[in-house]
Amino acid sequence: MDPLRFVRPDFDLLDAYTPVKPLDVLAAEIGVPVGELVKLDANENLYGPIPEVREAIANADLHIYPDPSQTALRAAIAGYTNVTPAQVVAGQGADELIDIALRLFTPKVVIDNVPSFGMYGFLAKINGAEVVEVKRGDGFSVNLKENEHAVRWQGATMVFVTSPNNPTGNQLAPAELEALLKLNAMVVLDEAYVEFAGGAMTEFLRFAPNLIILRTFSKWAALAGLRVGYALCHPAVAERMMAIKQPYNVSVAADVAARAAIKHRAVIGETLAAIVAERERMARLIGELGWLKPLPSQANFILCEVHGGSARTLTAALRQQGILVRYYANPLLENYIRISAARPEDTDRLMAALRELGPDR
Ligand SMILES: *Cc1c(COP(=O)(O)O)cnc(C)c1O
Repeated sequence: MDPLRFVRPDFDLLDAYTPVKPLDVLAAEIGVPVGELVKLDANENLYGPIPEVREAIANADLHIYPDPSQTALRAAIAGYTNVTPAQVVAGQGADELIDIALRLFTPKVVIDNVPSFGMYGFLAKINGAEVVEVKRGDGFSVNLKENEHAVRWQGATMVFVTSPNNPTGNQLAPAELEALLKLNAMVVLDEAYVEFAGGAMTEFLRFAPNLIILRTFSKWAALAGLRVGYALCHPAVAERMMAIKQPYNVSVAADVAARAAIKHRAVIGETLAAIVAERERMARLIGELGWLKPLPSQANFILCEVHGGSARTLTAALRQQGILVRYYANPLLENYIRISAARPEDTDRLMAALRELGPDR
């Protein structure tokens, strides 16, 4: 018998999530030592976690189950974000909070303001929702009219929007969020990169019960491998999210690491400032090439328009030199690559390779 006939039928049509290869496998494929890879393809913080965070993990009680109520972690996050603990839900990365929100509200139709972060569409489909892709307009700003149209006429009850947006790097204006919050829908505002940008919109939580803000420790705190993020929302929504989540979703290691990162945020702040400065230096150097056009960015990456040759061949040529950047097999981003901002030595390696390759490949 065919076991697949018991599987949910719409999963037949699902595109598998693009797999990311482990660093050692990649290095072996390219033929360079792992230490020589310059990983600028996933917006990770290449400075790595601070010693205080590593120490907290080393001293954690790993033999005890985590606290399902996340009492200490929710209090720490509440203090950090200036909300109440009852408005906080922590999870296994912001990704898990996207999934929990989708399971809680079970929207039939959601809006994805594309180009954007791939997880919204992926997780929406897994949760049985139809995805209406609303294309961003000039400067990749959100098309408010089309969002309104999709809520009013296509039955969308959940809007995903990102600020600063990944991969375009631009922020949502407070007036734009205000307009989205007037729609008859839940608004999920993903602030994964807000620590690089400022302009957090948490104060909207005071009067917008339909707002869910997502945050993560993956990018600013350099904890992508540990998986810890959170949602900020109305207490009634948070209570329901807490009720349906996996009880032990945040591991003991992730819990203590996240709290140590909050406690020592001033120390991490120094590397954040360095990354932002490096983003600006990288943008200037890339612009000087003349054949790669950096877009303004408020996050820890830069989207670049490729004028000499194709984005795909440029990505492959950089990879041959051990430099990884993000290429999109997406018609909306046909001739773009996204490059993460990292340490000065990473930028120097990137620039040397770009200068050597030149526009004609
Ligand atoms: C990286 C990223 C995330 C992922 O966060 P995790 O906490 O690692 O799951 C969420 N949203 C956006 C826009 C991102 O770029």
